[in-house]
Amino acid sequence: MLVVKKFGGSSVADNERIMNVARRCLEDYRKGHQVVVVLSAMGKTTDGLIAKAHEIDPNPPKRELDMLLVTGEQVSVSLMAMAFHSLGVPAVSLNGVQVPMQTTSAYGTAKLKRIRTERIRNELESRKIVIVTGFQGINRYEDMTTLGRGGSDTTAVALAAALHADVCEIYTDVEGVYTADPRIVPHARKLKEVSYDEMLEFASVGAKVLHNRSVEMAKKYGVRMVVLSSLTRAEGTVVKEGAKMERMLVSGVAADKNTARISVIGVKNEPGIAFKIFNMLARNHINVDIIIQSVGREDRKDISFTVARTDLQEAMTLLNENQAAITAQKITCEEGVAKVSIIGAGMLSNPGVAAKMFEALYSGNINIKMIATSEIRITVLIDEEDANRAVRMVHDAFELAD
Ligand code: ADP
Ligand code: ASP
Ligand code: MG
Repeated sequence: MLVVKKFGGSSVADNERIMNVARRCLEDYRKGHQVVVVLSAMGKTTDGLIAKAHEIDPNPPKRELDMLLVTGEQVSVSLMAMAFHSLGVPAVSLNGVQVPMQTTSAYGTAKLKRIRTERIRNELESRKIVIVTGFQGINRYEDMTTLGRGGSDTTAVALAAALHADVCEIYTDVEGVYTADPRIVPHARKLKEVSYDEMLEFASVGAKVLHNRSVEMAKKYGVRMVVLSSLTRAEGTVVKEGAKMERMLVSGVAADKNTARISVIGVKNEPGIAFKIFNMLARNHINVDIIIQSVGREDRKDISFTVARTDLQEAMTLLNENQAAITAQKITCEEGVAKVSIIGAGMLSNPGVAAKMFEALYSGNINIKMIATSEIRITVLIDEEDANRAVRMVHDAFELAD
């Protein structure tokens, strides 16, 4: 049996936790399994490195930022190899170049293209535990890249797919996937299993327990994922195809605070303007979420949309530079906002769901700034300071707790 085990930052935050992870991995190794370990940077290392970069340069070149960030994961994998050595077990650490994990060229948001598995397979054949840096790869210029925040999950699933692993276990600081972030809703309920589609939607709207691309990849290659705690032995959550959803209208609530709203005001009411705006953002790898266009008034209209707050500065620079081309009279933005979403497969066929969510927000006197819906989600944009309260109120309204 081949297992890929991924441990997030809090699971390797200090020496004691590194030894704890090593011992847990040994249990599988001693059963005769082949063990691949994928690690994040220790604790809040990545946040610290980003802060350091911004102290020197508020707008650091993306190539150099990636060059800096990849160091975090190299610290944890090398220390983990030493931990195994101290326990008398052969192990080897590999970074994204040594594997190699080939990615697209976009620094900071690179996508994995191809993983060469020969080196890993050889090391596994010689009964070594192989420890791989999460979150990083190498592009066609032989530069190091990163996969976006939380990307180690995607590294783990990609390796599991490439190595045809039997399972990809994602160890974190909670015991599985819950109906809402258990840090915001302490009585949230742990899901026994969740389908790829629902988990994908859940991760995309802010349930950051899994990187959304890791779920996308798991679905594509049929990788069985389990989310569980590195600190307890509790049964986790299985993510798989056709998981039998507990026939609920709504299966989860999530908040995404990495959000900002942009309004492009007074653009000409003629074909092609939306294309120009969103094509320009897409070409610069800026994802856009909720989009609202006002009904035209005379010859003008407004277009508002949300972007990740981390992309706001770049998006505003682009829009301002092209203000004339997009015929905008004014461009404004707002940072202190958050998206709150409910997801669930039973939603579309039930018209009362949106009203129930809005009623919960109304009863908390929370104002809705924008609304977006898809087949299995409803998202509202609200003030960031209301976000946690909104999650709790909506969670309670749908009676998602036990
Ligand atoms: P790691 O460093 O292990 O990758 P993350 O911080 O990326 O950990 O993800 C785990 C965190 O995700 C939890 O501590 C929890 O606060 C948060 N989280 C958000 N939504 C959920 C959810 N629906 N279920 C479980 N955890 C969630
Ligand atoms: N260390 C990276 C981050 O903090 C990747 C990860 O933890 O998944 O985003
Ligand atoms: Mg994570």
